[in-house]
Amino acid sequence: MNRAYKYRIYPNKEQEQLLFSTFGSCRFVYNQILALQAANYKAGIKHLSRFDANKYVNNTLKKEYPFLKEVDKFALTNAVYALENGYQKFFKKQGGYPRFKKKHRAKRSYTTNFTNGNIVVEETYIKLPKLKKIKASVHRRAPEKWKLKSATISQERDGSYYCSILYEFEHNPALSEEPLFPTIGLDYKSDGLYADSEGNIGGSPKYYRKQSAKLAKAQRKLKGKTAGSNNYDKQQKKAAKIHRKIANRRKDYLHKESTRIANCYSVVCVEDLNMRAMSNKGFGNGKATLDNGYGMFLTMLEYKLAYRGKRLVKVDPWFPSSQICSCCGALHKLSLADRIYRCGCGAVMDRDYNAAVNIRDEGLRLLKECA
Ligand SMILES: [Zn+2]
Repeated sequence: MNRAYKYRIYPNKEQEQLLFSTFGSCRFVYNQILALQAANYKAGIKHLSRFDANKYVNNTLKKEYPFLKEVDKFALTNAVYALENGYQKFFKKQGGYPRFKKKHRAKRSYTTNFTNGNIVVEETYIKLPKLKKIKASVHRRAPEKWKLKSATISQERDGSYYCSILYEFEHNPALSEEPLFPTIGLDYKSDGLYADSEGNIGGSPKYYRKQSAKLAKAQRKLKGKTAGSNNYDKQQKKAAKIHRKIANRRKDYLHKESTRIANCYSVVCVEDLNMRAMSNKGFGNGKATLDNGYGMFLTMLEYKLAYRGKRLVKVDPWFPSSQICSCCGALHKLSLADRIYRCGCGAVMDRDYNAAVNIRDEGLRLLKECA
């Protein structure tokens, strides 16, 4: 199993300079290979494998652009591999054609690999290739047995730096004795997080809404300033800082909720929401979805349940969870505006609660079918 720990780091001026050129070099190499592959394609030359693309970086680009030799070599290799992953997704029709990374828009980050103790996490610092010791707030450390795999260093829009350390460890949980109970179903809620099959609603804490208003205000102020001016930059940093705070709080909340559910239930049934199903459900603008971090929530649930020897069951996104009567099984078409589910059998239920019960029952059915 894999687990990542993310730490805030505080590089000094010199380290900041090196980080800046590493982010830039990764972007540069990525764009160079992208241009090369596109030109090759036009000329009828075969697509370079990730190994050949990496070889080209080492044998050709590094000679032409000596500054590439000054940054972490794994960072460049990983940038090349990331581009190739993008191509593979494109070839399998799972993604669009890879795009050039623009200087100001691209995410500032790179990943480096662990070999021979080149990455070390200590109480007050993290040691990274080329950078040596960087001051860090290490709020927790991985158990000794875990194997360090890689580190991803990133800079947020507000200027802060982070280092995410990826670990791998052995874990073979025994499935619990009575693996089917207790079971819970979760229905995705666009204006909250989920509604569950016990009538509870997991939602957005008040803090989140308050900060969102603050963020909107900061972004409105930004619009009134001239792009590129000092005041603009200042305001942008301010907005980015609020944004980061919200994102961190949100993530904390998702962690707490997913841990609580993983502790309480043996089986958790959810809808396997993909973007297509989302837009079908009328959440097409993506904003609510994004704010929610529902995908992140499901990822957390999945690994936390697996860690405990429990199960996450994904129900088909086309399963009509909101149309079935969870009491009698009849089918009714509901419009998005209908908040209450009424059935001829006498059932009157909250729409989301009904859907969550259906998701739970369908998940259980699937599990029994597999057993
Ligand atoms: Zn009914």
